[in-house]
Amino acid sequence: MNVVRATVLASIAMACLSAAAAPQKALIVDGQNNHRCWPATTAMMKRYLEETGLFTVDVITHAPKGEDPDFKPRFMDYTVVVSNFGHGAAMWPEETRTALEQYVSNGGGLVVVHAADNSFPNWEAYNRMIGLGGWGGRNEKSGPYLYFDADGNLVRDTKAGPGGSHGPQHEFVVVVRDATHPIVQGMPTMWMHAKDELYDSLRGPAENITVLATAFSPKTQRHEPMIMTIDFGKGRVFHTPMGHETYSMECVGFITTFQRGAEWAATGSVTKPMPTDFPSADASSSRSALD
Ligand SMILES: [Zn+2]
Repeated sequence: MNVVRATVLASIAMACLSAAAAPQKALIVDGQNNHRCWPATTAMMKRYLEETGLFTVDVITHAPKGEDPDFKPRFMDYTVVVSNFGHGAAMWPEETRTALEQYVSNGGGLVVVHAADNSFPNWEAYNRMIGLGGWGGRNEKSGPYLYFDADGNLVRDTKAGPGGSHGPQHEFVVVVRDATHPIVQGMPTMWMHAKDELYDSLRGPAENITVLATAFSPKTQRHEPMIMTIDFGKGRVFHTPMGHETYSMECVGFITTFQRGAEWAATGSVTKPMPTDFPSADASSSRSALD
């Protein structure tokens, strides 16, 4: 092997090594959420991303009340953006809305957790990004209500009705519906989620949406979407309505789903194996956020 060829090969090897080692850049956006625990849940999600060893994480916080003309995150600097906004959040500046739309449609990743699907009922592109949403006046005009029937078929119900509801909090079984997707691959078909709100009757454009897992709602007597992916242009969106409280996010099922969903949204694949303390069909499993 001549010296030039050896040098070229060495540089390619170095480039591959540095590419493999380069962390993904994640951004968590927060600041207005009807869930008062949001500073704690942002800290938990930041830690969960960092614990994978795959991400460096920045947090940008919107002004606490009203619209914030200075809220202009540089979405394009990141491979995944996590929304920890909630119900009643003030509309973002037009420039910021356009920036998020362009970022995702050009291939950026977006993660939507719990009440982030309550935000911005009148932002048309946001509703297409999240696929399904709740509250804020959402109804049949927002799009169909998606659920699984008793035979395991996805139903797109266009009948009139409100979008977004939940009953009392409780532990519930999550049922994997598409075991081949990298986010849920290797999970038990059924696993017990820690105490949480079980969102039901979510409605939205539901374009290019895949429901990977559901949970049976005692309230609606239907299987409601719990883990979803949405394609928006070239971008990937991971959406879970789980995560009402800190104890809900301590669930190893939530943690694993969130870490894998974020990696998939950022890169299109999942490298994290299943943890050994994952919940079973009969027993939930949690890690204390205080450890
Ligand atoms: Zn909630």
